[in-house]
Amino acid sequence: MANTKKKTTTTTTTTSHGTMDTSRYAELKQLLEDRRRELMSEVQTKIKDVRAEGASGMMHSVAELGESSESGIQEDIELALIQMKAETLNRITEALARLEAGEYGYCFECGDEIAPQRLRALPFAVRCRDCEEARELAHERERFYAQRRGAGSLFADLAG
Ligand SMILES: [Zn+2]
Repeated sequence: MANTKKKTTTTTTTTSHGTMDTSRYAELKQLLEDRRRELMSEVQTKIKDVRAEGASGMMHSVAELGESSESGIQEDIELALIQMKAETLNRITEALARLEAGEYGYCFECGDEIAPQRLRALPFAVRCRDCEEARELAHERERFYAQRRGAGSLFADLAG
């Protein structure tokens, strides 16, 4: 089995979207835009909710001061949620720009295409599943050795 390592040069024509074929490009674009639309409507309804609650909350706080702090905390949580979603929205927009540039959806480690179903679950995945798993394994191993080194370094320090 010596002849299997031959590099297969795929004959995909280079477009403005790098070497990504158009169906994959369309799929990923659809995926990101769906996600963006979803987030946008979520953010918008949330903002409406907070505004409505905020307004009634203010009236409440005038009437019954005791409860005002609690609704304030709730409002903070809602605002934090909106902010998180808004940040995700920014990342989606960035991902769309990367997709345009032909840089989105490729594994950071091996350069392979990341499976669309993986990107659907994790739109910001930068590694394919294989590399991610390998990385997690390496991390576990690192932790294991770091612990052992940690125990050993006590003596190393004394020696040095
Ligand atoms: Zn990979």
